[in-house]
Amino acid sequence: MFVFDLDVLLRLPVGTDSRVTKKSPAHWYDPEPESGRWFQNAEELEQSIRYGDFDKMLAVQTPSGKLEFPNRRARIILDDPQRQVSSGENAYTHAENQLKAAAAVGQIEVSIERRKCQTGCMCVEKYAAWSVPVMDFYFG
Ligand SMILES: [Zn+2]
Repeated sequence: MFVFDLDVLLRLPVGTDSRVTKKSPAHWYDPEPESGRWFQNAEELEQSIRYGDFDKMLAVQTPSGKLEFPNRRARIILDDPQRQVSSGENAYTHAENQLKAAAAVGQIEVSIERRKCQTGCMCVEKYAAWSVPVMDFYFG
């Protein structure tokens, strides 16, 4: 999860498309209508979103395909799925290294924190059910 100031969203370039998923794309299926994947308007999102929703994701698509980070800094909270990717490497460690390498290429100072789950969090159980290709897609 990227954490950024509201200013980043308020200063998006003209032509940017911002949408919110109704569920994790890992659970999309073909052929699923767009209305099953994405909220269609702000009112629909407002009626459905709750604090702690796990599957609703903000997707920002800028015309350049890049999102500028103010001050060349990014903060990322990374889940620890307590799984491995297909190479056998710990998924958290692998994803952390990949993100750091990408940040270095983009000359971004990145802060990566391991997510601290709240009591009753079900994320590890959810990740346990993911297939290896899905693990590789999100953590590989
Ligand atoms: Zn959790």
